[in-house]
Amino acid sequence: MAVLETKGLTKDFGGFVAINDVSFSLEKGEKHAIIGPNGAGKTTFFNLITGHLEPSRGEVAFEGRSITGMPPHQIVRLGLARSFQRINIFPRMTVFENIQTALIARDHKHFSLFSPGAAQNRGETRELLELVGLDTETAEIAGELSYGKQKQLELAISLAENPSVLLLDEPTAGMSPQETREAIALVDEIAKSRGLTLLFTEHDMSVVFGISDRISVLHHGELIASGLPDEVRNNVEVRRVYLGEGDDAAA
Ligand code: ADP
Ligand code: MG
Repeated sequence: MAVLETKGLTKDFGGFVAINDVSFSLEKGEKHAIIGPNGAGKTTFFNLITGHLEPSRGEVAFEGRSITGMPPHQIVRLGLARSFQRINIFPRMTVFENIQTALIARDHKHFSLFSPGAAQNRGETRELLELVGLDTETAEIAGELSYGKQKQLELAISLAENPSVLLLDEPTAGMSPQETREAIALVDEIAKSRGLTLLFTEHDMSVVFGISDRISVLHHGELIASGLPDEVRNNVEVRRVYLGEGDDAAA
């Protein structure tokens, strides 16, 4: 069953078509990578899905209903959360306060005079920090954490919404190979334990082919392939335009 679907999704920026007629589906429970060279349109595609950009044409549906044109906060509330390519935390707050703030923002939408409030919040904050392995850094200033740990914090912030689908835009950008492996293992473990569906972009092909259930390839804003890792690896067009095999590759 598709949890997320786009049909004919198109975005042009004043004549430059960044996403061109993309029809795509994300299946419940899968780990799905979007790959493509820099400028292929991956971040734009995410922005269109999460309401940060309005499509020029086409549709986005989440769990069978149209979310086209919905504002980001409403889409998040439906259970579709994301992280950003650039780090998105409150750098001057502590690690703990970052998560508490995310939970308060979430609960504010259901505010009542009799809400359990801060006490329950503390328990949930600790749980989330434990989940991403930041339980010993709760009192540290977020902006002073290592890059990898800031990404873990960002992940916990995304999870505060209790999403069913998580979009991660280059979650391992700027990480060492070792940090990359750890971060991916963490995301993988959390996805399993929470039954999350994952859509992510990643530049490291060994990671992509190592963990994805399915892979989609964007090239100049067009979806040129979508399928099982082996299908994508062996796709002639993908090999030609992306995996670096020219027509005369045999030479
Ligand atoms: P990727 O994430 O795959 O590297 P992007 O989605 O960031 O690619 O960008 C795709 C193309 O769209 C790039 O050529 C980029 O310059 C262009 N683009 C992205 N956002 C805008 C914008 N707001 N205005 C104009 N062009 C944009
Ligand atoms: Mg990008």
